[in-house]
Formats: sequence, structure tokens, C-alpha cells
Amino acid sequence: MNEPDVFEDAVARVERIAADAGVAPEVIDSLRQPKAVLTADLPVRMDDGSTRHFVAYRCRYNDALGPTKGGIRFHPEVTLAEVQALALWMTIKCAVVGIPYGGGKGGVIVDPKQLSRLELERLSRAYMRAMADFVGPDTDIPAPDVYTNARIMGWMADEYAAIHRKRQPAVITGKPIALGGSLGRDEATGRGAFLVIHEYAKRVGLEPAKTRVAVQGLGNAGYHVARLLQQSGYPIVAVSDSKGGVFSEKGLDVESLHQHKQETRTLEGVYCEGSVCELIESEKISNEELLELDVELLIPAALEGVIDEENAPRIRAKCIAEVANGPIEGTADAILQEAGIPVLPDVLTNAGGVTVSYFEWVQNRQGYPWKLAEVRDRLEEVLARAFADMWDLRAREGGTFRAAAYRGALQRIGEAIESEGTREWFSDGGR
Ligand code: NAD
Repeated sequence: MNEPDVFEDAVARVERIAADAGVAPEVIDSLRQPKAVLTADLPVRMDDGSTRHFVAYRCRYNDALGPTKGGIRFHPEVTLAEVQALALWMTIKCAVVGIPYGGGKGGVIVDPKQLSRLELERLSRAYMRAMADFVGPDTDIPAPDVYTNARIMGWMADEYAAIHRKRQPAVITGKPIALGGSLGRDEATGRGAFLVIHEYAKRVGLEPAKTRVAVQGLGNAGYHVARLLQQSGYPIVAVSDSKGGVFSEKGLDVESLHQHKQETRTLEGVYCEGSVCELIESEKISNEELLELDVELLIPAALEGVIDEENAPRIRAKCIAEVANGPIEGTADAILQEAGIPVLPDVLTNAGGVTVSYFEWVQNRQGYPWKLAEVRDRLEEVLARAFADMWDLRAREGGTFRAAAYRGALQRIGEAIESEGTREWFSDGGR
């Protein structure tokens, strides 16, 4: 039998949890397929004068709770199934944190590392030209994801303004501050994950100094969560990027590693003072080895599906915080549960990004930028409440943290669907 693809896996997980929670069939039906998907061909003029064609997607999955919201990924392995799975997870995630959005996602099949800066700009603008009637501040609001960033969001916002002949910064979030971006958006996903881990640590009595952490993927999300954890006294013993990782039992200095990576594009065990970096004692490890380290906290913060049925039995971490979207396949959930390894689910752990994206959208619509302290305080308020909801639901009904987070979200989506529809009217004989 073929393995289910990432989208089938995501739908099956919703069906499983919804069936256990007694969710109404209309709600499950509405989450089995996306509301709308647009596939586009993007012809892009390359620097040598030739034209290359790139395949692009945008998916608006479900808008029961509000306009759809979700990032755009530039990656050579983007598929429609992946975009749809990510859009479904966004639907759940926005409901978990209680922000008035549905779920969406976009992607382009491209290796952005092979493009010049100008080629990347032309590709980003071509994406917005193709999607300009599909996205909008009240319908679908994109944001950054893997290998896209604030600069790319800025190009897209500018292209949208040119097409519609007016500035509408609320069409896209994660923009540069100068174009209406929010203070604190760059660190929001990592900070959100840090806050979720902090809430968990408070309840189970984790001591930072005795909680060794391994982080897969030192990108936007992984870097900030590692930095904030280290600042709070957690030893970061391993980190990795797409080429592999480094390990040091004594702990690594996240800022030094990050600075060195920015300058040299290589990940090495270093300690930097000013611009001078020295190698420290550390070992090279592979991404697979990192996942199987004996640590107290494992943070996958790169791509989906890195823990599956095959390697799940070898996971030795005492707890996993999913900062990437979908790093654990549905089939591995039960194995980890059986092994007693709690998983803080992506739909809450990485929801800081979309929460501050929502704040950015609110600020754009108000035309009134907030101070950084206000962004951070409100983020903490949203995540602490969402964590408490998940924790209490699990305490009442048992099961995994993921099941509890999904249950709460499905209930919210269900209430919105029921409030719009006429099911009760009909079951009441149409009176
Ligand atoms: P990014 O582009 O900033 O970083 C990605 C990182 O993953 C890089 O360090 C890259 O080297 C590494 N990587 C790529 N392929 C890898 C591989 N095969 N093995 C190990 N590492 C690999 O991306 P990001 O924005 O930090 O996103 C990372 C994850 O977090 C994704 O799953 C994304 O969907 C999720 N996420 C991001 C945000 C956000 O606001 N940026 C919000 C929610 C969720």
C-alpha cells in the first residue's frame, strides 16, 4: 500500500480526533477539502535574458472564522498536497488561539538559493500578480514561511498596491517595519514557542538548567526559540540546518552560532566576542542523529514529516515541542504517546507567528502602530490563555495535548458553522 500523502495524513488526523470528540459531521465534512485552490504558472525573466517558468499555489482552506491566513513557502519540494496540509493546520491553529481567521497557505516550487536577488524579486512580484484577485485584506492574507522573509513580503505588498492603485498594507503580514510591518513580528514564532514551553515548564516543574535542548533548523523560528531558551538558562546542546548539525554536551552559544552562520553560511560550534569567533569543542552530527539525541526537550523547527513511524521508536527526548508545522506524522503520534513522550503541538507551539501577524493586520487597519512591549504583552496573553484552555481540556478529557488543542479548535469552528446554518431549524421540523 502507498503511504498517505501529507494532506491525506492531515485530514485523517482531524477525522480521528473529531470522531473521538463527537464533533458534528457537518464540521468534519467542511474540513475534508479546501474551499478554493489556485494553481498558477509564473514566467520569470532571468538575469541572462531567458525566461523560466515556476509553478505556484495558493490555497484558501476554510473561512468559517474569518479571512484565510497563511504563509508562502519557496522551496524545491513544495507540492499541492503540502500546501493544502499547511492550510488545514492554519485553520486549526487560528481557532486554537482564538483569532478571527480561517486557514490558508501558498507556495512556489523553487530553490531560492539558486536565484539572484533581482530574480527573487521578479518571482515574488509575479506571485502577487498571479494571486492578486485571490488574496486581499478581507479574504486571504499571506505571510512569510520557509525561505521567504520580510523583504519578499514588502515586494509583494508593493506589487499589490501597484495592481490596485492604492496602498493596502493589510493584504500581507510580516512586512518590513517601514512598509507597515509590526514590531516583534520577526521573533514572534520563536517567542510564542518559548512562551508555550514556559507555560508547560511551570506546570510540570521543569528546571531550565537541567533541561537540555536540541533544535532542528536554525531559521527564523528555530533561532529565536533557541535564543530565548538559552537566555532563560536552558542549555542548547545541539542545533542544525539543512546541511547538518553540531552537538556539544556543555552547551552551544546560540548568538555566536547564528552570527557565524550569517557571515559564513556554515553552522559550526563557535563562540564569538565581537567579530572574532573561535571554534569550541563540538561534534558534527546529522539531522537524523539530532532527532534521536537523549535530551530533555527536542524542538523540530525545520520541515514537516521528520518524525515518522520508522524513527519514532528511537526518539529518546523526554518531551517534544513542535515549532515546525507537522514535523510528526500522524502514524508516529500513537508511538510517541505509547512511549510517554508528551508533544506540545504545532497548532499551539508555533502560533505566535500568526498571532503577531494578526496584530500587524489590526495595526494596519487602525493606521496606528503599537509599541513592542504592547505586542509582546498581548502575545503572552493570547498564548497563556490558549495553553490553559488546552491544558484544562486535556485534564478533563484525557488524551494527548494535540487532541485537546484540536478539540477546542473544532468546537470553535463548529460553533461558527452552526451559527451560520439552519441545521437545528431543519431538525426541528423547519418551524
Ligand atoms: P526559515 O526559512 O527561516 O528556516 C528554515 C530552517 O530549516 C533553515 O535553518 C534551514 O537550513 C533548515 N532546513 C531546511 N531543510 C532542512 C532539512 N532537511 N533538515 C534540517 N533543517 C533544514 O523558515 P522558518 O520560517 O523558520 O520555518 C521553519 C518551520 O517553522 C516551518 O515548518 C514553518 O512552516 C514553521 N513556521 C514558521 C513560522 C514563521 O513565522 N516563520 C510560523 C509558524 C510556523
